[in-house]
Amino acid sequence: MSKSYITTPLYYVNARPHIGHAYTNIIADCLARFKRLCGSEVFFLTGTDEHGEKIRKVAKLSGKEPQEFVDEVSANFKDLWQKLNVEYDFFIRTTFDFHERIVQEVIKKLHTKGDIYKEKYKGFYCVPCEAFWTAIQVKESGGVCLDCKRELEVIEEENYFFRLSKYQSWLISYLKENPEFIKPSTRYNEVLSFLENNSLEGLCISRPKKRLSWGVEFPLDNNYVVYVWFDALLNYISAAGYNQDEERFKSIWPADYHFMAKDILRHHAIFWPIMLKALEIDLPVTIFAHGWWNFEGEKISKSRGNIVNPLELIKDIGVDSLRYFLLREIPVGGDGSFSWKAIVNRINSDLANDLGNLVFRTLNMAEKYFSGRISSSSPAVPREFREVLSEIEGSYKGLMDKAEFNTVLEKIFKFINVMNKYIEETKPWALWKAGEKEKINIFLYSLLEGIRIVSIYIWPVMPFTAESINGQLGIKSRELRIENAGWGLHGDFKVKKEKPLFPRIDVS
Ligand SMILES: [Zn+2]
Repeated sequence: MSKSYITTPLYYVNARPHIGHAYTNIIADCLARFKRLCGSEVFFLTGTDEHGEKIRKVAKLSGKEPQEFVDEVSANFKDLWQKLNVEYDFFIRTTFDFHERIVQEVIKKLHTKGDIYKEKYKGFYCVPCEAFWTAIQVKESGGVCLDCKRELEVIEEENYFFRLSKYQSWLISYLKENPEFIKPSTRYNEVLSFLENNSLEGLCISRPKKRLSWGVEFPLDNNYVVYVWFDALLNYISAAGYNQDEERFKSIWPADYHFMAKDILRHHAIFWPIMLKALEIDLPVTIFAHGWWNFEGEKISKSRGNIVNPLELIKDIGVDSLRYFLLREIPVGGDGSFSWKAIVNRINSDLANDLGNLVFRTLNMAEKYFSGRISSSSPAVPREFREVLSEIEGSYKGLMDKAEFNTVLEKIFKFINVMNKYIEETKPWALWKAGEKEKINIFLYSLLEGIRIVSIYIWPVMPFTAESINGQLGIKSRELRIENAGWGLHGDFKVKKEKPLFPRIDVS
């Protein structure tokens, strides 16, 4: 049996989850469900990043101990994943004991190899971001923090560094030999060109306790804690059993997909592969950076106060509509505009008019003409369906594997529209008047079979909808497997119509 290890980044718990977090996890969940649909053994990991001075400060502001605070915020993330129907296999928190122990073991191991050194360092430091910036970066940014645009402090202190430079030329050749390692290709080109045009400096992986106390204790020197990013990235191996259960680790690692937003690509595409190489661990298969949702041209970020609360959106439009909108509207690697108008358009036209209406009127006819019992006496694919259906069959797996969900959905909805047109052109009401019962039975069987196949294909994107359709068709949900997507694999139908799947949203 094939395996798939799929990860999301660990979300930083200094604030509540927003739509950007929801987007990453929906992408990862859709891919994980696709792999399960194909019978793959999936390990889907998400979690929270809980260390750092920012968290200690926010906790203090709300009158809480850091641990109490991170317990609460981390629970908010779990709650959101449950409401979004994101079915992860493990939720890791960087404050888990086993994870902290692995972080310390890794540092000792790298130190023994000579990849960690101590040095007096003078650098540009952003206190709120806990980030050091190099002189080149600061010159480019005009003297402010590259992340939050705040003023920087010049700090001089001794710290521990990870020798990135030792592996730079190795990483360049690795990227050249593996052009599929970073996706989409625009991001691959960016990383490669950055590496070819800049010399990597040592990565500062310690923070003195006098400045920052909420973190994993630095194993070589108890005056320091570990830099949050170095700590957080290691979750991908600690959660998979590294240095704890070698057999399990071998069965899960390497990760097949690391998903993340493009602003943290460099951590994943430069630091992380070098950390793994230094530890003599195989590299992940694909690092996939998705784009940003813009709200009237603004990137969603906490610091600019532009959050759309996903919990409110679920209440307003429903989980599957939100999942559909996010995955259908833009390709995973691109940026998109998030607007109420765009959401309403998608729901009313694709979901209510096309899919919802197809299911409702087909089942309505099945009940009206045959009390819901449709026999499978003639299971040939109608001529009208052939081309569009074989196009989906031929491309579905390949496109889903590349996370090209929007293209897949476009093809599936083309088929849905062909079925709607088939109803208009066949005019079953006229056939009924003419007493053509056999013809109507064949016609309805074709539509039900088409809808059944659609429900399998859309399950990764809209699990509730697919399961509801299956329920109405009288099919058990265990039949939601890709090998059941062939035509004519279902016998007689006994259907039971429910209320329309997607109520139209009032535009006014
Ligand atoms: Zn900053």
